[in-house]
Amino acid sequence: MKLRIHQFIPFTRVEGPGERACLQVQGCPIRCPGCAVPFTWSTKGGYDVTVDELVDKILKGPKVEGITFLGGEPFEQAEALAELGGRLKEEGLSVMTFSGYVLEHIQKANRKDWNDLLKVTDLLIDGPFQKENRDLSRPWCGSSNQRYHFFTDRYLHLKNQLTNTPNRMEITLKPDGRVFANGMATIEDLEGLFNDLIK
Ligand code: SF4
Repeated sequence: MKLRIHQFIPFTRVEGPGERACLQVQGCPIRCPGCAVPFTWSTKGGYDVTVDELVDKILKGPKVEGITFLGGEPFEQAEALAELGGRLKEEGLSVMTFSGYVLEHIQKANRKDWNDLLKVTDLLIDGPFQKENRDLSRPWCGSSNQRYHFFTDRYLHLKNQLTNTPNRMEITLKPDGRVFANGMATIEDLEGLFNDLIK
């Protein structure tokens, strides 16, 4: 089974609880104004990877406690992500999933692939990015309409800590000199960081 992805990050500390692998899928029909990742909208971008390859990379890669699916829109590739998430859960890993769709829309659709992805998800963050409600005060969220849904008790202990867990950004310097950033930060934070770096 194949996935169209924008990138696979084998290890991150900013895309969900703890230390995780992260899969950013390619393709999003929701197209929120102000989206920070418009390069993930087209289904023609990115590259193909099989679920088998990803399972192998994650289990043989850096030690992580789980996988995060973000986008793009994960529910547009729900069947393959449910398969990947299910196989990783059998190995004891957790699954966190983002969606620009609200949970009620996903449930009302009653699609097998969407239900299957919900079933393997421990923590869902739902809702489109709304630039008029932009708010980076909660971890992993970009706007105040987005909600946390704890489907299992795996991360239930975080429920009362969300207001004092800040959003974070990770900067990685690649061996070829490219700078890679993921996570959430304000433009002002980024300007401050890069101004400091070039001083
Ligand atoms: S759902 Fe996510 S990836 Fe899609 S347009 Fe909105 S913010 Fe961007």
